[in-house]
Amino acid sequence: MTARRHPALSATDPELASFVAAEETLQAQTLRLIPSENYVSAAVLEASGTVLQNKYSEGYPGRRYYEGQQNIDRVESLAIERAKGLFGVDHANVQPYSGSPANLAVYLAFARPGDTVMGMALPMGGHLTHGWGVSATGSWFRGVQYGVSAETGRIDYDAVRELALAERPKIIFCGGTALPRTIDFEAFGSIAKEAGSILVADVAHIAGLIAGGAHPSPAGHVDVISTTTHKTLRGPRGAMLMCREEHAKAIDKAVFPGLQGGPHNQTTAGIAVALHEAAQPAFVTYAHAVVANAKALAASLLERGFDLVSGGTDNHLILLDLTSRGVPGKVAAKALDRAGIVVNYNTVPFDPRKPFDPSGIRIGTPSLTSRGLSVEHMPVVAEWIARAVDAAAASDERTLSAVRGEVSELMAAFPAPGLPLS
Ligand SMILES: *Cc1c(COP(=O)(O)O)cnc(C)c1O
Repeated sequence: MTARRHPALSATDPELASFVAAEETLQAQTLRLIPSENYVSAAVLEASGTVLQNKYSEGYPGRRYYEGQQNIDRVESLAIERAKGLFGVDHANVQPYSGSPANLAVYLAFARPGDTVMGMALPMGGHLTHGWGVSATGSWFRGVQYGVSAETGRIDYDAVRELALAERPKIIFCGGTALPRTIDFEAFGSIAKEAGSILVADVAHIAGLIAGGAHPSPAGHVDVISTTTHKTLRGPRGAMLMCREEHAKAIDKAVFPGLQGGPHNQTTAGIAVALHEAAQPAFVTYAHAVVANAKALAASLLERGFDLVSGGTDNHLILLDLTSRGVPGKVAAKALDRAGIVVNYNTVPFDPRKPFDPSGIRIGTPSLTSRGLSVEHMPVVAEWIARAVDAAAASDERTLSAVRGEVSELMAAFPAPGLPLS
């Protein structure tokens, strides 16, 4: 299969080609529920593998440090214009190598080492780069952290406001990696204004939902929008920073020359294609289907007695607390993997267990929705999860392999975008 799809690679490096082929098979046969993952289209894959790779392009369109940028400038300008149009912003920088360096550029633009910054705590659902201790952002800056309410599992905006006014941070981050509920950007906007802070909406997880109108947009409520391009937005691995005109210079200077060298032009091309795809009516349908599937899956899991952090979901992801099931998250995640269901173990808010061995798992619907699964499939997905988690508790490998067979049979009927037909 790979010999036909990747003839040069197979001839030059059959060993590596065999790994790629095995990954194609794995992605085709499994039910991928990691909420930060997706399947890019064949067009995005092609754009990301072009000769644009061969160019050095330090600088920005029309202002480069290298010659021969006639085509690269057009590629990057197209990506920028599409980002501005899709997200309704004045300015877009499409060069950050990934979400973490994009966030680092925000610090470089608006803070100095030692300044106070504020974000959601990692174990509450925030991201490492929002000032958490083990990240450079938490050691070079003074990170103060908010969480969710113990009763509701949701952000307590009064508590956020209180902390912001007490600490007056230079930067406030909203958004995270394990937040199953809608983020109120307007509420964060008025808090940041009152505290005199730069407000960053890190929408890495939900950018595709925002583009498709399935989650409110932060545009107009925040100073900077930071996002990866490879999660719900369904582009190549990369990131973008978007802002109002007043911050454009600071953001651009921070990305280059502040933090990075040459942009990854082949990735910029893939981002441009993904943004084009995300502007089509079919993507609006996709974004709403992601949410509808997540809500249906959450309802089926609740029926099966699972504990969901915050009691459900408004978006693409669900955080399951497996404490009542008697299985640690890591044990469950590994059992699910053997059953052909790919998830990640995750801390839950106020988790009594350690981050490397937490109480929960995190699941989401972006990938299965890209393959065309819909709400009528969610009861069986919930049933598989329940059987596999209970089999994990009982060390019942036979059930896991039975589920694996059922999963791969269903997935065979839903070819994955960008992958060969099996
Ligand atoms: C995924 C993610 C990032 C980091 O992106 P990488 O590309 O993995 O560096 C940053 N912030 C949030 C909220 C994320 O979900």
